[in-house]
Amino acid sequence: MGAETRLTFLNLGNPTGLKFTVEHGASRVLFDFGLEHAPGQAPFSLGLAPRVGRELEDLLAVGSAPRLDGLYESWDGRTAVFISHLHLDHTALVRFLHRDVPLHYPAAMEPLRSAVEAAGYLPWRHPPGTPLEDRRPVAWGDIEVTPVAVDHDLPGAAGYLVRTPDLRLAYTGDHRWHGLHPELTAAFAEAARGADVLIQEGVGLEQEVPLPADAPPRPPRLSEPEVLAGFEQLLASEPGLVVANLYPMNRERVALLAQVAAAHGRRLVLEPQSATVAGHPDVLQVDEVRADPRRFVVQLGYQNLPLLIDLRPPPGSAYVHSNGPPLGVYDPTYRVMEAWVRQLQLRFLPLGSSGHSWPADIVRMVQAIDPGVVLPVHSRAPAALAVPGVRALLPEAGRIYTRNALLDER
Ligand SMILES: [Zn+2]
Repeated sequence: MGAETRLTFLNLGNPTGLKFTVEHGASRVLFDFGLEHAPGQAPFSLGLAPRVGRELEDLLAVGSAPRLDGLYESWDGRTAVFISHLHLDHTALVRFLHRDVPLHYPAAMEPLRSAVEAAGYLPWRHPPGTPLEDRRPVAWGDIEVTPVAVDHDLPGAAGYLVRTPDLRLAYTGDHRWHGLHPELTAAFAEAARGADVLIQEGVGLEQEVPLPADAPPRPPRLSEPEVLAGFEQLLASEPGLVVANLYPMNRERVALLAQVAAAHGRRLVLEPQSATVAGHPDVLQVDEVRADPRRFVVQLGYQNLPLLIDLRPPPGSAYVHSNGPPLGVYDPTYRVMEAWVRQLQLRFLPLGSSGHSWPADIVRMVQAIDPGVVLPVHSRAPAALAVPGVRALLPEAGRIYTRNALLDER
């Protein structure tokens, strides 16, 4: 404890699983509490899961959950947790928080949060915590925390502004400028302008580094409006079945695709769990689809690829990869998905839009905020961030950064 603000990254989130604390005096706030998504690299991935009944012990044992006193067995009386959005790399450990730990999340996330919990997709802590009104500051000791909405590829995402007696810090959360609500991200940048320290999400920086020679080609880079236009074009002429691998938490895309499908005489039907998550209650019935494939768009996630055998799509039907898992070409299961498409003689159409800013937009964001120092995190290529006129600091996990060290005023 000390009079100076201290920032510590428990996990840099490179590429995912970002977690950090801000402390001042006796108070500590912890941002995001998810699981690293690194298929083929994390101990629990590619079909290996923590054992039932001892999930937390297993995750702690392999370093996938942080060893932190005062969060699991009991509450330390000084740490409060804030969640930026509902993606699993930011939330999957929330269920293990002790019931007394103060837990906060953006109120706009609540409908999706309760749906994913009801669907059994993402277990949550009980009691579920406090939904925060956008832009209303919350005091935690002498730390003030304010959620500010950003545009991401699911409802209810926010960044946070953090003010201590000696530091103004901004955390962007996951965000983008090429979605349907860029004005939200722009308004966050405006609210964060002049922060001393900017913690900048940099997933999109991976586009700056070359892929391994044997990797599948990157899908085309599209904006969210371009994805919807792509579906429109496909559905205007497709004679067979359309199978789509969507990310069901992207409720807006699901709803808009359902509208486009309806305009072309098709129903968008989803697997039962995805239907609950997406808030689109039209559930897949295999017999219905098989009887008249031209009348349907079928949402099919990776785990349900074998259902293609029962659906019997006419040869040449479209398989649209639209941001459902596998989440990228770096995921070893990407090749598995391609094998199903090939063997069932489907046409592979990549039609997705990232939830994360493109590299030039990250630079634009940092320039708009113009912080004293920017810390790029949550990225395969954090070192690729270079913004003229703004000092960058590549943080190390586990190291305590004092206010003076961050601002280079030692
Ligand atoms: Zn993330």
